[in-house]
Amino acid sequence: MASQQTQTVLVVEDESSIASFVSLYLKNAGYAVRTAATGSEALTQAARGDTSLIILDLMLPDVDGIEVCRRIRKSSDVPILMLTARDEDVDKIIGLEVGADDYLTKPFNPRELVARVKSILRRATPERRQQESAKLQHGDLRIDAGRREVRVGEDEIQLAPKEFDLLWELLDHKGLVLTRDQLLERVWGYTFAGDTRTVDVHVRQLRRKLGDASPIVTVWGVGYKVAPTRDAA
Ligand code: CA
Repeated sequence: MASQQTQTVLVVEDESSIASFVSLYLKNAGYAVRTAATGSEALTQAARGDTSLIILDLMLPDVDGIEVCRRIRKSSDVPILMLTARDEDVDKIIGLEVGADDYLTKPFNPRELVARVKSILRRATPERRQQESAKLQHGDLRIDAGRREVRVGEDEIQLAPKEFDLLWELLDHKGLVLTRDQLLERVWGYTFAGDTRTVDVHVRQLRRKLGDASPIVTVWGVGYKVAPTRDAA
């Protein structure tokens, strides 16, 4: 009996764009999400004791992430994943002094963040046999994130790494339009407006390689999306 109790992740980040972007990815991965924009709010929320994991930004407007982490550690073993803008902080953060479980340096790939969260929670709750890796399907098209494998029916399709990531991103947001800038940010990790033709070139390659199985729809003047399949029944 695999109980599918929803785990709650607390996202502590004062930059609302990052907080909402991280929340979106976590919700898509099946987690319940709460957010806090300050260190003191984080401490209040953490004290409720119903959080499975905390994502904690280092730079906060009041009590900084390191101090928040130290205070939480006085009374709780809840897993903490720190976000930092600098590599130099890492030894200290992960060390016994502060006691975070893991860290990510900004800017990070949101898929990487979700993978870290899953892996920390798996370590924290070893009795839960969670799915080894995520898989997505759309009609005849199947993609396996763990193996980084794409198949159309029985045939494996060879994709370049960014082609794979782009396809995953679109399928993972089935029905939603993603702009070229959003795709650049999520797939390539650009945090500024880059050359969006990169996206078009990769979409063209994906369509060529996937042929009729390509689920990608151009939304003129906006970006791309994957249309919902009719064969869901
Ligand atoms: Ca911040």
